[in-house]
Amino acid sequence: MLKQTIKRSVKQVLTGVGTLLPHAAACSRILTYHSVGTRGHEMNITPECFREQMEWLAAECTVLTLEEAARGRAGVAVTFDDGYRDNLIKAAPILHGLGIPATLFAVAGRLGAFLDHDVQREDARLMSWDELREFASRGFGVGGHSMTHARLSTLDEAGQRAEIAGSLERLRDELQCPVLSFAYPYGTAADYDEVSLRLVKESGCLFACSNRYGVNRPTNLETFALRRIWIDQSDTFPVFRAKVLGRLDLLSALESSAGLRVRRWLNKCSGQ
Ligand SMILES: [Zn+2]
Repeated sequence: MLKQTIKRSVKQVLTGVGTLLPHAAACSRILTYHSVGTRGHEMNITPECFREQMEWLAAECTVLTLEEAARGRAGVAVTFDDGYRDNLIKAAPILHGLGIPATLFAVAGRLGAFLDHDVQREDARLMSWDELREFASRGFGVGGHSMTHARLSTLDEAGQRAEIAGSLERLRDELQCPVLSFAYPYGTAADYDEVSLRLVKESGCLFACSNRYGVNRPTNLETFALRRIWIDQSDTFPVFRAKVLGRLDLLSALESSAGLRVRRWLNKCSGQ
């Protein structure tokens, strides 16, 4: 609760400051969502909030596929991490109705069940393979997100290969279609390393996403560690809009070593 309040206040101040600063226009912004439902987690957002955000996006922005965003085209792409079942039930109909493309990064070894760090409640369940096939058949993209949601940088090369290549092979096999992208679990710069990048390339991916906050510029593309903009429960609609319009690009400072220390301190304060 304290963490949410601090985050809201910081974002409010930064949004005010951000309106006074120049921001990058010709770049791609890739949004990261997790569950869209009732899961009791700060990364969950309600279907009502999601609809409000998507309606604004469809009306005001150039929406992109992840492939277009990965090339640095100007606009906004939507991604989901983990593969929550509510992405199919709640988010997909909203996206479909508005004509917004999206890509989901699935934890291949946990589909139909739960992530180890989630409370095992029905609203935290991941899609089954049949449900993921249904999601893909509606035209949405699917990428890899490891087998077990492991922190890749803590594993040796064989362990990373099992998580990266293993998940991509399983997804290709089950979906019977090319799977050309990957998102590193957790996704800060400390959660993956050079070995992860190499293995993702060797596994036939064309690009990969981190969760480092920020935009992707065509002149300086990190194709295998694209930056994204996470959207969570503490984002009011004005803050969401500010993030998409680049008014909160200052948050990329959170990726610096000083920023990471602040995030660790916030987590400590909130007992996480
Ligand atoms: Zn994840």
